[in-house]
Order: sequence, then C-alpha cells, then structure tokens
Amino acid sequence: MALAEIKARIAAAEQAAGRVPGSVVLIAVSKIQPLDRVTAALDDGQRVFGENYVQEAAGKWPDLRARWPGTELHMIGPLQTNKAKLAFDLFDALHTLDRPSLAEKLARLAQAQGRCPQLFVQVNTGAEPQKAGILPEAVDDFLATCRGMDLTVAGLMCIPPEDEDSRPHFARLATLAARNGLAGLSMGMSGDFEVAIAAGATHIRVGSAIFGTRAPKT
Ligand SMILES: *Cc1c(COP(=O)(O)O)cnc(C)c1O
Repeated sequence: MALAEIKARIAAAEQAAGRVPGSVVLIAVSKIQPLDRVTAALDDGQRVFGENYVQEAAGKWPDLRARWPGTELHMIGPLQTNKAKLAFDLFDALHTLDRPSLAEKLARLAQAQGRCPQLFVQVNTGAEPQKAGILPEAVDDFLATCRGMDLTVAGLMCIPPEDEDSRPHFARLATLAARNGLAGLSMGMSGDFEVAIAAGATHIRVGSAIFGTRAPKT
C-alpha cells in the first residue's frame, strides 16, 4: 500500500535532516475519499487523520473511532464560527485558527469545558488575497491576543501558494514559530512533505499520495 512507501520516505527525510526518527507526525488526509480506502489505512495501523469539512467528518468518524479506538482526528480545513462547537467537540487538533473571532469562540468553549484541542494558527505566508490565514507581519500580535484569552497555541500551519517553491514559505513559518517559542510546525503535503521535514515540520498533511486522487467534491 502507498502508506508504507510514504512512511519509508518520511523516515528517510527525517534521517537526512538529522531529525529524531519517528518525530514527524503523519496526518493522513482522508477528505472525500471512499470509505474503503480509509478503513484500509486504519487496518494498516494509521491512527492520525485529517479532514477538511466538519460535516463530513462528523458523519463518518464517530463510527470509525469506535471501531479503531485511539484514532486522532485533525481539522485542516477552513473553520466557520457556526461550526466551531461541533469541531471543538469532534477534533483532537484544529490547524486553521485564523482570526480573532474564532479565537474568542474557542476560548469560551475551552473555559466552559476545561479542555481544548491542540491549536495551530494558520499563516498566509504568501499573502494571497483568496487564502485564509494571519499575515506573517500580524502573527506576533495575534499570538499575544490568543495568550491574552488563555488559549494555548501549539504551533503554526501554512499552505504555500500552489505555483511557488514551498521552501521559502516553510522557512518563513519556522522563523515565526521559533521567534514565538512555538514547537509545532504543520506544513508539507503530498508534493512537498520531504522539503517540509527538512525545514522542521512536526506535522505533515498528506492525502493523495496515500489514498490516490480525490473525486471532485460534490
Ligand atoms: C487536502 C489538503 C491536504 C492534502 O493534500 P494532498 O495534496 O492530497 O496531500 C493538506 N493540507 C490541507 C490544508 C488540505 O486541504
């Protein structure tokens, strides 16, 4: 299965970069994939998955998690405020904290429940107008805002522009994280996860390279 090959490539990239073996978390991105491909990965031992759509995840994961206990679920898609509660309750980690209003909402939920999913702040490293994320120059202030709300942020996340070399974007994200004392770096997808590991990624989000191409979302 492709999963074994991806794991071997991750191990090689960790070694080449002098990273601790097994230190990079592989998030298998299962959005809009047929269920049999997802259960095959679960059968192969994969226990960390990423989803983009709250509704889709809420539909399939409660059952899958009951069958494969201990499976971790990461939200990697844009998060609407009106779905924040559902996402907060369903996911172990949210990678797309991208605005103060969402931080406020999550802070209120965290206070009410006395726990919080692991949080990553999405950074728009390419300053693309159509893309979500905090602009690089606003990251320090936004993190201070989160701290002011008692929200613990684990790291930063980015999706580099499609038509550009990812390397400078990964380097920028790593610099911003280091400057703010954040250990987590969610970066790297099917096409560039080895480059991301070399740049310090702690979490890579790999979909099509594991599961095959996705049907267009309907
Ligand atoms: C879909 C998606 C991925 C996985 O993309 P692949 O190219 O299939 O590996 C990773 N990150 C985010 C934010 C995504 O939306």
